[in-house]
Amino acid sequence: MTNSGIFKLAIASGKGGTGKTLLSTNLADYLARKQAVLLADLDVEEPNDALFFHAENKVITPQYKMIPDWQSDRCTLCGDCTRQCKFHAVIRLGEFITVFNELCHSCYACSDLCPEQALPMKPYRMGETRHQILNGLQLIESRLDVGQEQAVPLIHATQKYICELESKPAIQILDCPPGTSCPVVAAVDGADLVLLVTEPTPFGLNDLKLAVETMRQIDKAFAVVINRQGMGDDAVENWCKSENITVAARIPYDRQLAEQYAAAKLAWCDNTALEEALEELALFIQQKQVQYA
Ligand code: SF4
Ligand code: SF4
Repeated sequence: MTNSGIFKLAIASGKGGTGKTLLSTNLADYLARKQAVLLADLDVEEPNDALFFHAENKVITPQYKMIPDWQSDRCTLCGDCTRQCKFHAVIRLGEFITVFNELCHSCYACSDLCPEQALPMKPYRMGETRHQILNGLQLIESRLDVGQEQAVPLIHATQKYICELESKPAIQILDCPPGTSCPVVAAVDGADLVLLVTEPTPFGLNDLKLAVETMRQIDKAFAVVINRQGMGDDAVENWCKSENITVAARIPYDRQLAEQYAAAKLAWCDNTALEEALEELALFIQQKQVQYA
């Protein structure tokens, strides 16, 4: 486990719309009946886990990233900073040095290497983190401000926020952004186990293969959860078998479940099939906790 007995479970998927939020919210609520749980929505571009809990009294913390702030009176226009920035976030326009905040990765290179100390780093707001405490469940959600393009710095800031909490539940569920790019890699960083949610369709299989490849490249332990089992074919099951990948649970295809989800309801207590899938998953997680302890 990551540290001091905390088990971090990331829930990810190769594409959006496979049931990542359904699983994250229902699993968190299901487990919170018996133990303290933290659910963090790291899909910072469009977080929606909080919709399912209808909680109020949020603590809101603004989040900042560090950006160079050009000091014209010190600058000799040598151009070193524009050559240093690998992200083309700082350019010279005539007699001015311009920093594009949205492109800056806060690497400090230009600031540290400026011979005139003309680029001191300053905080720049990128979004906020909302923290709610419900019965047995801590719900944390980070959201990028409108116009902000970089999810990774806010994901890192949210992980730091979680690490610095006074009270840390022993099980932490991280609802990750969809896809296989940098935000997902950042979100699963530090997770003990990643559950890849997929659906039994050709699209689901294609995106699952990409997600599995990513997890293997970053050497992350993972298992698969098949959502909407029964609506497609057996290709996902067969492929997982051929690749020796564990299918930790299957959530049956069910119109009522889709309706409950669309109405932002936590469905597991009214839906036996989902409850059984969560029970199976809880046992699997328990085994992994023991294994990694
Ligand atoms: S490196 Fe410093 S002195 Fe040189 S152009 Fe950039 S800000 Fe100006
Ligand atoms: S801090 Fe790094 S990414 Fe940002 S402008 Fe400077 S060199 Fe570029």
